[in-house]
Amino acid sequence: MAKYESRLFVNGELVKPLGNKTFPLSNPATGEFIADIPIAEEEDVNRAVAAAEKAQPAWARLPARQRSAIIRKFASLMEHNKHKLSELDSVCMGKPLHGGLSDIKEAAEISNYFAGLAESSGGETSLNTPGMISMSLRQPYGVVASIIPWNFPSMIWCHDVVPAVAAGNAIILKTSEKSPLSGVFLAQIAYEAGFPAGIVNVISGPGQTGAFLSSHMQIRKISFTGSARAGRAIMQAAANSNLKVVGLELGGKSPLLVFDDADLDATADAAVASITINSGQVCTASSRVYVQKGAAAKFKELVVARMSSLRLGDPLQDGTQMGPQADEKQAAAVGKYLDIGTEYGRAIVGGKRATEAGVNFIQPTVFTGLSDQSRLNTEEIFGPVMVMHEFDTEEEAVHRANDTEYGLYASVFTKDINRAMRVARALEAGNVGVNTTSPDGPYEMPFGGFKGSGIGRQKGSHAVLDWTEVKSVYVKHG
Ligand code: NAD
Repeated sequence: MAKYESRLFVNGELVKPLGNKTFPLSNPATGEFIADIPIAEEEDVNRAVAAAEKAQPAWARLPARQRSAIIRKFASLMEHNKHKLSELDSVCMGKPLHGGLSDIKEAAEISNYFAGLAESSGGETSLNTPGMISMSLRQPYGVVASIIPWNFPSMIWCHDVVPAVAAGNAIILKTSEKSPLSGVFLAQIAYEAGFPAGIVNVISGPGQTGAFLSSHMQIRKISFTGSARAGRAIMQAAANSNLKVVGLELGGKSPLLVFDDADLDATADAAVASITINSGQVCTASSRVYVQKGAAAKFKELVVARMSSLRLGDPLQDGTQMGPQADEKQAAAVGKYLDIGTEYGRAIVGGKRATEAGVNFIQPTVFTGLSDQSRLNTEEIFGPVMVMHEFDTEEEAVHRANDTEYGLYASVFTKDINRAMRVARALEAGNVGVNTTSPDGPYEMPFGGFKGSGIGRQKGSHAVLDWTEVKSVYVKHG
C-alpha cells in the first residue's frame, strides 16, 4: 500500500497520465515502498503545453504587481506548509528534516525576491540617434519548461518556476524520478495562491519525459539543472527541434584552497559542512581540498575530528546530521569511488559504507595520497567524499585548482586580503568564496558555472529578465 499518492498537475488539476503508467518509489533510508509515480508520455506533455499556451496570454497581460502578489502568497503558503514539504523531500531522497526546512525557507525568500524583480524589470531606451526614440521591450517567451534534479527539489523548483512565471510565461516542469513528490505539491500550492490553471504545470517521469520537453516545438526556452550527460542531450534535442533557448546548471568538482595563515578552525568547519551537507549530493560541494604544507597536519586533524563526530541516521529523526545517499544506485556509485580511493590512496577518516546507520549510508570520508589525475579528483562523486592534497605556492595552488573541466564554485581561505583578491580573480569558477565556501551564496548574486559547469546564470538581479525575449523598437519622429 502506497504511503503517498502522486499525480501529474496539469491545467489546475491533479490528473493521471493518459497512458496510466507508473514506476515505484522507495524511501532510501529504509528501502520501504512509498509511492507509485506517474509517467508522463508525449501525449501528456502535449496536453500540458496546450493548457499552458491557452492560459499564458491573459497571464502576461496582468499588471506585474498582480503577478507579484500571487507569488508572495505562494511564498507564504510554502512557509505554512514547510513541514509537509520537507517531509516529502526527506522520504524521497533522504534529506534530514532540518535541511529540508532550511531549503523551504530559502525557497520562500527567493520567491519573494523574484516577486520584487517582476515589478522592476523592464527594457532600455535611447535618444542617441537623431530623429529617433528607441526602446527595448522585455516580453515573455510564452511556453517554457524546466527539468530539475533530485538533490534540492523544492528549492530548484522555485529557481526556475518563479522567475519564469513572474516574467509572464507559463511553465511545464518535470521533477526528478528520485524526488517527485514535493514538485506536485508545490504546483497545488501555487494554484491555491492564485496562479490561473495552466500557468504552472508539473509532470513526472524518467529522462524520456524530459526529452519530450526538450524537443517540443512549442516550448521556447528550457532550463535544465542536472548532469552534464543529460545537459548535452537536452542541447542536442533543442538544436534538432526549434532551437529553443537552453539554460544549463550542471555539475562541479569544486576546489577549496587553504593557506598557512587561514583561520584553520573556521576553515575546517566550512570545508566539512560543504562536503557533508545533503550527504555530499551538492553540485557546489568542495570536493577537492588543497592545503598549504605548513598548515596541512593541523588541518587534517581538525577535519578528521569533525567528520568522525557527525551523526548519521534516520533523516526524519531530530538530531540527525547526515542521511543516506538518495537511492541504492547513488550509494553504489559512491561505494565504487571508495574502492578506488582505498586502492590508490589512504582514507584518513571514513572510507566505507556506513552499514550500521542503515541502507545506502556512506561514512564521511577524506582521502589523501591521490594524484590530481585520479578519478576521485577529476569526476563528480556526489557523496560525502573529500580528496585532500598539499601545495607549496599560490601559483601552484591556483593552477591545480583550475585544472578541471568544471567551474562551478571555488574557494580560498586566507587572512591576506591581497592574496584573497588575486586568487579570487584567478580561479575559473562562476562562484568564488573568500573565507567561506558552498553552499554559501546570496540569492541577489548571479549563480552558474564556467566551462563545463553550465551555460547562463540563475538568481541575481537578471533572474526575471532571463525569462524574456528582447525586442528593440525604433520610433522615427519629425
Ligand atoms: P540527471 O542529469 O541524471 O537528471 C536530472 C534531470 O534530468 C532528471 O529530471 C532526469 O529525469 C532528467 N533527464 C535525464 N536524462 C534526460 C534527457 N536525455 N533528456 C531530458 N531530461 C533528462 O542528474 P541528477 O542525478 O538528477 O542530479 C545530479 C546532477 O545535477 C549532478 O551532476 C549535480 O552536480 C547537478 N546539479 C547541478 C546544480 C547546479 O545548480 N549547477 C544543482 C543541483 C544539481
